[in-house]
Amino acid sequence: MNCFLDRDGVFNIDNQYIGTKERFIWYQEIFKILEILKSQGYKFKLITNQSGISRGLFSLQDFLKLSFYFLETLNKKGFDIEIRFCPHLPSENCHCRKPKPNMILCHSISNNDIFIGDKKSDMQAAFEARIPNRWIISPNPSGPYTKSFFNHKELIYFLEK
Ligand SMILES: [Mg+2]
Ligand SMILES: [Zn+2]
Repeated sequence: MNCFLDRDGVFNIDNQYIGTKERFIWYQEIFKILEILKSQGYKFKLITNQSGISRGLFSLQDFLKLSFYFLETLNKKGFDIEIRFCPHLPSENCHCRKPKPNMILCHSISNNDIFIGDKKSDMQAAFEARIPNRWIISPNPSGPYTKSFFNHKELIYFLEK
Protein backbone atom coordinates (compact mmCIF):
# COMPACT_ATOMS: atom_id res chain seq x y z
CA MET A 1 0.00 0.00 0.00
CA ASN A 2 1.30 3.38 -0.98
CA CYS A 3 0.70 6.74 0.54
CA PHE A 4 1.75 9.40 -1.94
CA LEU A 5 2.44 12.83 -0.55
CA ASP A 6 3.06 16.27 -1.90
CA ARG A 7 5.89 18.14 -0.12
CA ASP A 8 5.26 21.89 0.19
CA GLY A 9 2.09 22.51 2.19
CA VAL A 10 2.10 18.94 3.52
CA PHE A 11 5.52 18.40 5.16
CA ASN A 12 6.45 22.06 5.42
CA ILE A 13 4.86 25.47 5.25
CA ASP A 14 4.49 26.44 1.61
CA ASN A 15 6.30 29.75 1.52
CA GLN A 16 6.84 29.35 -2.25
CA TYR A 17 9.95 27.92 -3.87
CA ILE A 18 11.70 26.44 -0.86
CA GLY A 19 15.28 25.59 -1.88
CA THR A 20 17.21 25.59 1.40
CA LYS A 21 16.72 24.02 4.79
CA GLU A 22 16.82 27.47 6.40
CA ARG A 23 13.53 28.19 4.65
CA PHE A 24 12.09 24.74 5.25
CA ILE A 25 9.68 24.89 8.19
CA TRP A 26 8.27 21.51 9.16
CA TYR A 27 4.67 20.93 10.11
CA GLN A 28 5.31 19.00 13.33
CA GLU A 29 1.94 17.24 12.87
CA ILE A 30 3.20 15.44 9.75
CA PHE A 31 5.25 13.04 11.88
CA LYS A 32 2.15 11.87 13.72
CA ILE A 33 0.34 11.42 10.41
CA LEU A 34 3.22 9.33 9.06
CA GLU A 35 3.39 7.28 12.25
CA ILE A 36 -0.28 6.31 12.05
CA LEU A 37 -0.13 5.50 8.34
CA LYS A 38 3.10 3.53 8.75
CA SER A 39 1.46 1.45 11.48
CA GLN A 40 -1.31 0.67 8.99
CA GLY A 41 1.31 -0.64 6.55
CA TYR A 42 1.71 2.28 4.17
CA LYS A 43 4.90 3.01 2.22
CA PHE A 44 5.60 6.66 1.50
CA LYS A 45 6.26 8.21 -1.91
CA LEU A 46 6.92 11.90 -2.35
CA ILE A 47 5.55 13.43 -5.55
CA THR A 48 6.68 17.04 -5.83
CA ASN A 49 6.78 19.80 -8.44
CA GLN A 50 9.93 21.87 -8.03
CA SER A 51 9.86 24.38 -10.87
CA GLY A 52 12.03 26.68 -8.74
CA ILE A 53 14.91 24.71 -10.25
CA SER A 54 14.04 25.65 -13.86
CA ARG A 55 13.09 29.14 -12.79
CA GLY A 56 16.65 29.55 -11.49
CA LEU A 57 15.40 30.35 -7.97
CA PHE A 58 17.52 27.51 -6.60
CA SER A 59 19.78 24.95 -8.21
CA LEU A 60 19.36 21.23 -8.66
CA GLN A 61 22.18 20.85 -6.14
CA ASP A 62 20.26 22.99 -3.63
CA PHE A 63 17.22 20.79 -4.13
CA LEU A 64 19.24 17.60 -3.66
CA LYS A 65 20.95 18.98 -0.54
CA LEU A 66 17.58 19.88 0.90
CA SER A 67 16.30 16.42 -0.05
CA PHE A 68 19.15 14.77 1.90
CA TYR A 69 18.25 16.86 4.92
CA PHE A 70 14.58 15.94 4.38
CA LEU A 71 15.38 12.22 4.13
CA GLU A 72 17.77 12.30 7.06
CA THR A 73 15.26 14.02 9.32
CA LEU A 74 12.58 11.48 8.39
CA ASN A 75 14.96 8.51 8.69
CA LYS A 76 15.95 9.58 12.20
CA LYS A 77 12.30 9.42 13.12
CA GLY A 78 11.94 5.99 11.56
CA PHE A 79 10.38 6.85 8.21
CA ASP A 80 11.46 5.96 4.70
CA ILE A 81 10.23 7.90 1.72
CA GLU A 82 10.97 7.66 -1.96
CA ILE A 83 11.28 10.97 -3.81
CA ARG A 84 10.14 11.88 -7.30
CA PHE A 85 10.32 15.45 -8.47
CA CYS A 86 9.63 17.52 -11.54
CA PRO A 87 12.13 20.38 -12.08
CA HIS A 88 10.38 21.82 -15.15
CA LEU A 89 8.43 24.97 -15.91
CA PRO A 90 4.73 24.71 -16.75
CA SER A 91 5.60 26.08 -20.22
CA GLU A 92 7.97 23.17 -20.90
CA ASN A 93 4.94 20.89 -21.05
CA CYS A 94 6.91 17.96 -19.64
CA HIS A 95 5.48 14.57 -18.79
CA CYS A 96 6.15 14.72 -15.08
CA ARG A 97 4.66 17.93 -13.71
CA LYS A 98 1.44 17.57 -11.71
CA PRO A 99 -1.48 17.73 -12.58
CA LYS A 100 -0.14 15.04 -14.91
CA PRO A 101 -0.24 11.63 -13.20
CA ASN A 102 3.04 10.21 -14.54
CA MET A 103 5.20 10.60 -11.42
CA ILE A 104 2.54 8.59 -9.60
CA LEU A 105 2.13 6.05 -12.38
CA CYS A 106 5.78 4.99 -11.99
CA HIS A 107 4.38 2.99 -9.07
CA SER A 108 1.71 0.33 -9.07
CA ILE A 109 -1.52 1.52 -7.51
CA SER A 110 -3.67 -0.52 -5.15
CA ASN A 111 -7.17 -0.18 -3.72
CA ASN A 112 -6.13 1.38 -0.43
CA ASP A 113 -3.65 3.89 -1.80
CA ILE A 114 -3.82 7.47 -0.62
CA PHE A 115 -2.63 10.80 -2.00
CA ILE A 116 -2.21 13.63 0.48
CA GLY A 117 -1.82 17.08 -1.05
CA ASP A 118 -2.76 20.69 -0.54
CA LYS A 119 -3.63 21.83 -4.07
CA LYS A 120 -6.08 21.15 -6.84
CA SER A 121 -3.24 19.93 -9.09
CA ASP A 122 -2.38 17.21 -6.53
CA MET A 123 -5.96 15.99 -6.55
CA GLN A 124 -6.12 16.08 -10.36
CA ALA A 125 -2.90 14.05 -10.69
CA ALA A 126 -4.15 11.54 -8.10
CA PHE A 127 -7.52 11.30 -9.84
CA GLU A 128 -5.88 10.70 -13.24
CA ALA A 129 -3.70 8.00 -11.64
CA ARG A 130 -6.89 6.42 -10.21
CA ILE A 131 -5.81 6.70 -6.61
CA PRO A 132 -8.99 5.98 -4.68
CA ASN A 133 -8.29 8.09 -1.57
CA ARG A 134 -7.51 11.67 -2.41
CA TRP A 135 -7.06 13.79 0.67
CA ILE A 136 -6.54 17.52 0.59
CA ILE A 137 -5.33 19.62 3.51
CA SER A 138 -6.62 23.09 2.78
CA PRO A 139 -9.05 25.64 4.18
CA ASN A 140 -10.18 26.23 0.56
CA PRO A 141 -10.16 22.77 -1.00
CA SER A 142 -10.73 22.30 -4.72
CA GLY A 143 -10.31 19.62 -7.35
CA PRO A 144 -11.43 15.98 -7.36
CA TYR A 145 -10.63 15.23 -3.72
CA THR A 146 -12.45 12.54 -1.74
CA LYS A 147 -11.83 14.07 1.71
CA SER A 148 -10.80 17.51 2.82
CA PHE A 149 -9.19 18.64 6.05
CA PHE A 150 -9.02 22.21 7.24
CA ASN A 151 -5.54 21.59 8.64
CA HIS A 152 -3.13 18.83 9.71
CA LYS A 153 -4.75 18.49 13.14
CA GLU A 154 -8.08 17.63 11.56
CA LEU A 155 -6.40 14.89 9.53
CA ILE A 156 -4.86 13.45 12.72
CA TYR A 157 -8.30 13.42 14.41
CA PHE A 158 -9.69 11.58 11.41
CA LEU A 159 -6.89 8.97 11.46
CA GLU A 160 -7.20 8.44 15.21
CA LYS A 161 -10.94 7.80 15.04
MG1 LIG B 1 1.84 21.66 -2.22
ZN1 LIG C 1 8.60 17.80 -15.41
